[in-house]
Amino acid sequence: MSKRVVLIGHPVAHSLSAAMQQAAFDKAGIDARYELWDRAPIALADAIAEVKGDDFLGANVTIPHKERVVPLIDKLTEEAQATGAVNTLTREGRRLVGHNTDVPGFDVALDKLVGRQKMPRQAVLLGAGGGARAVVYGLIRAGFQRIVIFNRHLHRAEGLVKFFGRSAAHMDLKAMPWHDSIIESELARTKVLINATSIGLADDISPIPGEVLTGDLLVLDLIYKRTRLLRDAEAVGAAANDGETMLLHQGAAAYTLWTGQAAPLDVMGQALADARAGGVRSAEGEPVGDADAAVPEAASPAG
Ligand code: NDP
Repeated sequence: MSKRVVLIGHPVAHSLSAAMQQAAFDKAGIDARYELWDRAPIALADAIAEVKGDDFLGANVTIPHKERVVPLIDKLTEEAQATGAVNTLTREGRRLVGHNTDVPGFDVALDKLVGRQKMPRQAVLLGAGGGARAVVYGLIRAGFQRIVIFNRHLHRAEGLVKFFGRSAAHMDLKAMPWHDSIIESELARTKVLINATSIGLADDISPIPGEVLTGDLLVLDLIYKRTRLLRDAEAVGAAANDGETMLLHQGAAAYTLWTGQAAPLDVMGQALADARAGGVRSAEGEPVGDADAAVPEAASPAG
C-alpha cells in the first residue's frame, strides 16, 4: 500500500516541503506520497484524527497550527514540549507523537551563521510565533545570555518569555515593545539579529529600517528567500543568511523520523532550489489570511 505524508497548514497552496520530501521518497524508492492539506483551524482536529490511519507515515504541521496542534497530540518529544510547538508528527500505532524539527533545523542554521567565530551571547529576535519558539530554545541551548524579543503584538512576546521562564532563569530573556528606536539601541549591543516574522515573505518590505543595521551583525531571516532585510544587511557589510538551511534540515530530520533512514540532503537541497527557481514559495510562512475562515472539506490536496 502506498504510504501518505501530509502537510497540514492554512494556506498550503504551494509548498517547497512537498518538492523536497517527494524528491527524497522517490530517490530512496519509498512508495510514499506527500500531500498538501489546506485546513483552517476549525478543521484541524479532524485532520489530526485522520492522520492516525494506517496508510500514514506521518505529517508536517505549519502556519498557523504549530502551537494549536499541541493539545491534539498523544505524546510530545522533549523538544516539542520545551518549545510548545509541533511541526512534525509520527505514528505509534493509533497514537500520534509530536516533534519539533525546526529545533535541529535552526541549530544548523545558527552554526552556519556564526561560522568560525565564537558563539555570540546576545541576540535580538523579531517575531514570537511558532518559528520563534524554536529560535529561542536553540539560542538558550547555545548559551546566549541575553535575548530580546520584539513582536507586533507585545503580549505574544511576553507569553513566550513566560513560557521559557524556567529554562531562561539563568539569563536575560525579555520582551520589548516594537519601536524602531528601541530596536536600534538593542541592536547596538547585539551581535545576532533573527527575523522570525513573516514580514518580507509576500512583499518586498523589511521589518526594520535599514539604518538601524550595522556591519558587525550576523543576520538570519527564517524566510526562505533573499529578503529586503537581508539585502539591507549585506549593504552595510553584515553577514546575512536566509531560511534555506533551516528549511532543509528541519525537512531532513522529519524525513528520518518517518522513514528511519538518513535523509538524502543533496537531493532535497536540489529539489528546493528547483522548486524555488520554478516560482514555488514556502508554505512555511505563506501569509495566513483569515485564519478563522472555514475551508471546504476537500480543499487543495495538491500533492
Ligand atoms: P506564526 O504565524 O506563528 O508567526 C508569525 C509571526 O510574524 C508573528 O510574530 C507575527 O506577529 C508576525 N507578523 C506576521 N505578519 C505581520 C505584520 N504584518 N506585521 C508585524 N508582524 C507580523 O508563523 P511562524 O512563526 O511559523 O513563521 C514565521 C516566519 O518564519 C515565516 O515567514 C516562515 O517562513 C518562517 N519560518 C521558516 C522556517 C524555515 O524552516 N526556514 C521554519 C519556521 C518558520 P503577531 O504575533 O503580532 O501576529
